[in-house]
Amino acid sequence: MDISYSTEEHFIMNTVSAAAAQLGVSAYLIGGFVRDKILGRATKDIDIVCDGDGIALAHAVADLLPNKPKVSFFKNFGTAQLIIKGIEVEFVGARKESYREQSRNPEVSPGSLEDDQKRRDFTINALAVSLNKADKGTFIDPFDGLLDIKDKIIRTPLLPAQTFSDDPLRMMRAIRFAAQLQFHIDVNCFESIKSQKDRIKIISKERIAEELNKIVMSPKPSVGFDLLFRTGLLELILPQLAALSGTEYVDNKGHKDNFYHSIQVLDNIVPNTDNLWLRWAALLHDIGKAPTKKFEKGHGWTFHGHEVVSGRMIPKIFGNLKLPMNEKMEYTKKIIELHHRPVALTKENITDSAIRRLLFDAGDDIDDLMTLCEADITSKNAQKVKRFLENFEIVRQKLKEVEAKDQIRNWQPPITGEEIMETFGLEPSKAVGTIKTAIREAILDGIITNDYAAARAFMITFAEQLGLTIKT
Ligand code: ATP
Repeated sequence: MDISYSTEEHFIMNTVSAAAAQLGVSAYLIGGFVRDKILGRATKDIDIVCDGDGIALAHAVADLLPNKPKVSFFKNFGTAQLIIKGIEVEFVGARKESYREQSRNPEVSPGSLEDDQKRRDFTINALAVSLNKADKGTFIDPFDGLLDIKDKIIRTPLLPAQTFSDDPLRMMRAIRFAAQLQFHIDVNCFESIKSQKDRIKIISKERIAEELNKIVMSPKPSVGFDLLFRTGLLELILPQLAALSGTEYVDNKGHKDNFYHSIQVLDNIVPNTDNLWLRWAALLHDIGKAPTKKFEKGHGWTFHGHEVVSGRMIPKIFGNLKLPMNEKMEYTKKIIELHHRPVALTKENITDSAIRRLLFDAGDDIDDLMTLCEADITSKNAQKVKRFLENFEIVRQKLKEVEAKDQIRNWQPPITGEEIMETFGLEPSKAVGTIKTAIREAILDGIITNDYAAARAFMITFAEQLGLTIKT
């Protein structure tokens, strides 16, 4: 197996080799860099492990470089960092780890390369490449990581029960790698995750969310969410999503499995957006279907108002997962709350007024909303899919036309509250709000055009009906 390195990477490897030789230690490339190189994926940082002091090696490397870059190091962790030719290079001394029950932070002591490879989470992440004169470029692969990369298998170097119990975050990492790389989790690992799932409780929400975000951003997130569900982890970390699983039949009437529908919608949106929050909106758009589900005799299953309930559930879900409680959350909530509006517009005779109201409510997020609606089509009937997509295309066209005419997308009231107060000699009061709302509604309903003159004329007539007169 040959890996092709860039010029910068060759330079880094040669410099590390030279510095290691000077210090009389052995150094190796290890971890995600080696894995991603073999897979032909883009790489980020380079990890170097040596059978000595990692910080001393980093300093020796810096001394060989013409600009003598600054070494950042953490004495307690025995790690050091250097930026070489724009690439972050991390150095660490090979180590042994031992764990205690209540923490994922191990006790660490110096060890051999093999000890260090054993402490790694998966065989595909435990591969090392020698940077030493005698066997430079050779793989050191005691756990058959190369074979597992070839067979697309995620497997632990040691017994899975031990690996996952020591650091339960590895359960999330296994599933995340399965989704990112489209690999299979070895059956013993899968069973072990199932039985160790409750250990996830010792992992911080932030770390869990970080892995979830990586799954959401992977090329086929459904692989990850399906694994989370089947291992029982989803029930513990995102129970609202797990609750969508299953179908139920009454009087021979069933409904679709809303969990599998949701993860399918997420997959569908992947080619059309890299926006993490739009992807989260796709995943959670139907989250309110579990609490709103009802069987109505003679009619079948209903989920009335699920989009509003789904939206309302978002702050709590984001809060629990320690996802940001800021405009990202508001955006996700809004897209979810609105996700049925364009659907409704495909069913009736579309009035300009309905289109204006959607533009007003969605604002600049209208295109993202349409992207979600299109991803929401999961029918297996190709004819149906074609028809739905054509209908959405009509809505998109209509949105464009109405926006060009009325400019509602970033709507600002043509008349300010100050002008209303000045015109009628009012103090800040309920009447000012009433007039402002009436102007907005008249524009959205198409009673008047969206411009200053029309709004002023309307305001005067409307205010007269309230018994107000213009102050001279
Ligand atoms: P990514 O950068 O996509 O997160 P990565 O594998 O490079 O993937 P890092 O978190 O940078 O992940 O970790 C670098 C290496 O450190 C891994 O390849 C693995 O060998 C090891 N590692 C990271 N986290 C763990 C862990 N929780 N348990 C054991 N080994 C780990």
